[in-house]
Amino acid sequence: MAAPDRPDLPTLALTGAALERMAHWREEPETLGRLLSNPETVVLELRGDRLEVTENPEGRATLVRRSPRPADASRLAILLGEDPGTGRPCVAVVSTEQPPGEGWINLRAAGLTLSPADADLFATTLGIANWHAAQSFCPRCGAPTRPEKAGWIRVCEADATEHYPRTDPAVIVAVTDDDDRMLFGRGIAWPEGQFSMLAGFVEPGESFETAAAREVLEESGVHITDVRYLGSQPWPFPASIMVAMAARARTLETTPAPGEMAEVRWLSRDEYAALLRSGSIRVPGGISVARKMIAQWLGADPSDVAGGAPQLPWQVVKPPGPTAATTE
Ligand SMILES: [Zn+2]
Repeated sequence: MAAPDRPDLPTLALTGAALERMAHWREEPETLGRLLSNPETVVLELRGDRLEVTENPEGRATLVRRSPRPADASRLAILLGEDPGTGRPCVAVVSTEQPPGEGWINLRAAGLTLSPADADLFATTLGIANWHAAQSFCPRCGAPTRPEKAGWIRVCEADATEHYPRTDPAVIVAVTDDDDRMLFGRGIAWPEGQFSMLAGFVEPGESFETAAAREVLEESGVHITDVRYLGSQPWPFPASIMVAMAARARTLETTPAPGEMAEVRWLSRDEYAALLRSGSIRVPGGISVARKMIAQWLGADPSDVAGGAPQLPWQVVKPPGPTAATTE
C-alpha cells in the first residue's frame, strides 16, 4: 500500500510507506499465540528503544527479521501486520534485555538509513511499545491493565475498561514574513546556535490552526495569519505526531517568551546560509520535519530531500525563482 502524496512537504522520514496492519486479525483472540508458534512469522525484537539492523545484499540497512522463539511467548507482543519485506505476518516483541552495543540502533539513527517500509515498522513498534510502557495501570481506577487485541488495546483487570493507544499532536510552524524571512527560535535549554521553527503541543479545545497561532504568539510575540497544513510525521519520542504548518506573519516585533525561549530571530536565506557556513548555527536533526521545512525554504532540490536519508546540499543555497544558484 503506497503512502498518499504530500505535495506540500514530500517524503518526510518515517512516512514513506503505509504498513498493511491487518486490523481484522486483532479481533481473533488467538492471533498472537498462533503467529508466535508459526516459524514463518516474522519477529522484530525491541530492546530498550533499539532494533537490530543488518545490511542487505545491496548494501542497504535493513531490520533483522527472525523466527519466533519460545521466550517470545512470555513477552509483550504486538501484531504489526503484513511485513512488506516478505509478505508474512509480522509481530513485534518487547524484550527486557539490554541491546548489545553493536548492530542495534535507535529510530533517530535508523530513520536515516532504513527503507521507508522498515522505518515505518520501526516507528510503529516504538510508538506502540512506548504506549504500553506508560499504561500498565488503569487511568480510571489504578488497577493493573493487560494487553488484548493483539497488543492494540489494554484492558483494566478491575473494571474491564478498554484503553486505546494515544498519540499527542504537536504543531511546528514555518512562519515567513513578506520578505520571505523565516522565524526561528532557540529554547532556553538548547545549546547556543541550535535554532528551529516554533513548535508546541496542541491543547484540548484547539484546532491545529489555533494551536499554531497560540504557540507562535506565546513563544515569539508574533501574530500570524494564513495558517495552512503542510504534512505530518509520526514522532514516537515517546508518543507524538508532528503536524507541520506554514503561516504568514501579521506582525514582526519579537518578544521571546520568558523562561521558555532564549532567542527568537527573523533570518533571511542568505543570513541562514552565512550562519551555517560559519558554523554558528545548527541544523535540526536528520529525520526531523524541521530539517525538511528548512530545506524547502532554502530551495533545496526536492530530489536531494527525498526519502529517509536527506543528504542536504547545505552549501548550495538557491534563491527562489529562476535566478542563478549561488554555490560555495
Ligand atoms: Zn480500571
